[in-house]
Amino acid sequence: MKIQALKGFKDILPAESGVWQRIEQTARDVFHRFGFAEIRVPILEKTDLFVRSIGEATDIVEKEMYTFIDRNGVSLSLRPEGTAPVLRAFIEHSLHTLQPVQRLYTIGPMFRHERPQKGRLRQFHQLSVEVLGADHPRLDAEVMAMAWMLLTELGLTVRLEINSLGCPACRPDFKAALENFLADRAGSLCEDCERRRLTNPLRVLDCKSSHCRAQYQTAPAITDYLCPGCADHFAAVEQGLDLLGIPATRNKFMVRGLDYYTRTTFELVTDQLGAQSAVGAGGRYDGLVAQLDGPKLPGIGFGMGMERLALLLTEQVGASAPAGADLYIAALGPAALERGFQMAHVLRGQGVRVSMEHDGKSLKSQMKQAGRLAARYALILGDEELASGQAVLRNMGAGTQDSLALGDNLHDWAAGLVARIAES
Ligand code: ATP
Ligand code: MG
Repeated sequence: MKIQALKGFKDILPAESGVWQRIEQTARDVFHRFGFAEIRVPILEKTDLFVRSIGEATDIVEKEMYTFIDRNGVSLSLRPEGTAPVLRAFIEHSLHTLQPVQRLYTIGPMFRHERPQKGRLRQFHQLSVEVLGADHPRLDAEVMAMAWMLLTELGLTVRLEINSLGCPACRPDFKAALENFLADRAGSLCEDCERRRLTNPLRVLDCKSSHCRAQYQTAPAITDYLCPGCADHFAAVEQGLDLLGIPATRNKFMVRGLDYYTRTTFELVTDQLGAQSAVGAGGRYDGLVAQLDGPKLPGIGFGMGMERLALLLTEQVGASAPAGADLYIAALGPAALERGFQMAHVLRGQGVRVSMEHDGKSLKSQMKQAGRLAARYALILGDEELASGQAVLRNMGAGTQDSLALGDNLHDWAAGLVARIAES
């Protein structure tokens, strides 16, 4: 049987990779403007890292991780998200001693064993951003503004929804009120919520079942239970977003699927991807670094799903043009093929995207290939032209052509051609 890719694992083919590169380049560019530096961390970590950070009673740890025992009997997991590995590295290398506030981002694959759907893969990719060592509410606003700027520069329109999850001081009161509310409705909730009601009650609030959702309309809102510190923080975050002109709406049902969040949480949502509505999500996690045995430092971050960004980009903006070539060299005859081979190399060294084949097919077939590549120019070179020191340069878009002197020095000739095709 032919071997195929695993279910939920997708190849990103050349026709799609242009969109991915656009996302990645724009992201790096925006993140660098906000003072972020890239950190690259391993894909495999000890399972414990995720259990201790994401939380034992979360969907991710309970049923979505790719976990296995390695040859030494240690339990390892493919990372399901980016925050835990980045924090592990931050602590392991004491990065806070180099710079009290660290602004870090990482880009790469994450793994979750979920049911694959449009915009939901088992290997997916995230832009993952963290700021460690500061807890000013303006920072929360700044981080959301950065995500917003990235989406805006990509040409995407989404909604920003925010909430506060409080802190260890105020959340227990809310949790108790919610537990009472849920106890009154025991037996009428979906199977998952009946379980969550006892293991992790906050998680019921973002249940996807419409029957549960309808009942939760009257559930207590966390924002009514915030302690003065958390209430002030949340108000200042909203004011900060306002100062930057970033529109945000409150969503009291947003609780996020990871246990580590405190205070501010946010999601960037769209109606254009069906059930996969979150393009990005994040929040503050002030206790997490200490919980992983690091220094007592606050943090905030977000993850953005690149598959969903790519889908939205194709839907809202349209796919980008093929990579193309600046110049296609159509060479006919052995001497021309040899000279063309050298020309291509020298031109590539001077920054030109050059394409050519080595087998000397007919001019018609070579020009067809130039068309497939959407080459801007074609250089037509035959043994006879070569002998008379001339080639033909065809402007593929305009359909015009000129003769082009070849000269003795290949580098000078190439520089002249570079200047000429840069003009248009
Ligand atoms: P969802 O509610 O869609 O399952 P999530 O809350 O589990 O999302 P996070 O853990 O916050 O997602 O991850 C941040 C972002 O990563 C999401 O907003 C989404 O864009 C993307 N993402 C998460 N899981 C997947 C997946 N299985 N496939 C593709 N993208 C994903
Ligand atoms: Mg999920």
